[in-house]
Amino acid sequence: MIPLQELVNNSNSSETIDLIAMIDTALCVGAGGSTGSLADKPIVRNAEGKLLIPASQLKGRLRHECEKLAKGLKWEVCQSPVATTMCPQRLGLSDTDEEKFQQLYQKEDEEQYHCLICQMFGNPALPSRLIFDDLICDESPDNLPETIRPGVTINRRLRTAEAEKLYYLETSPPNAELEFVGKIHIQPGFPEEGKPLLIAALKHINALGGSKSAGLGWLHWNWKYKSTDQTKEFINEKAWKMLLPSR
Ligand SMILES: [Zn+2]
Repeated sequence: MIPLQELVNNSNSSETIDLIAMIDTALCVGAGGSTGSLADKPIVRNAEGKLLIPASQLKGRLRHECEKLAKGLKWEVCQSPVATTMCPQRLGLSDTDEEKFQQLYQKEDEEQYHCLICQMFGNPALPSRLIFDDLICDESPDNLPETIRPGVTINRRLRTAEAEKLYYLETSPPNAELEFVGKIHIQPGFPEEGKPLLIAALKHINALGGSKSAGLGWLHWNWKYKSTDQTKEFINEKAWKMLLPSR
């Protein structure tokens, strides 16, 4: 049997980003339908009962932030998350825009081409060149009492509380300064100009999970790049130059 963890470690991934999400308030990354809690939306835990931020949630947010930045830089990117409007199909795209795509992304002797975001995060036809860990809080579950926060649904038309719509959220304990730790594994073939974009996108994520406007989920990041080749800069000068001038 081959443990999944070994597969990831042996995938020639020479570069990783070690990530720590430091929670400033309380986190409400929940999943409906979980059992074992009185809350309507309990927080996600792993098998050992430790709190976690699912890898899929972090990946989704980072992709979204990268797309926003790329569009701001006037780079051609496809429309996610619907498969038909994403690369390589790009249905509904005008001929002039498709030409721009071709100029920017098509390499010699390659029929299919993908925008920068798809080259980083993948699409139904292209595997992701980023592998995300769940971010796990190493604090023992015994030290983290269940924290339940009541809320009530607001009727947007009447701007009053709806009758009989009380709900309960489970959050991490407030102001406990919890740290959630994990890695992003950068796979071979990851585009160089994607690296500064990834870091810039990470800086744009100030909150994760639900009820952000109610003050939940605010966080800041600590991260460290790791490369097996110590002489190699994580983001080399070429990548910055590719990112900065308008294309
Ligand atoms: Zn794309």
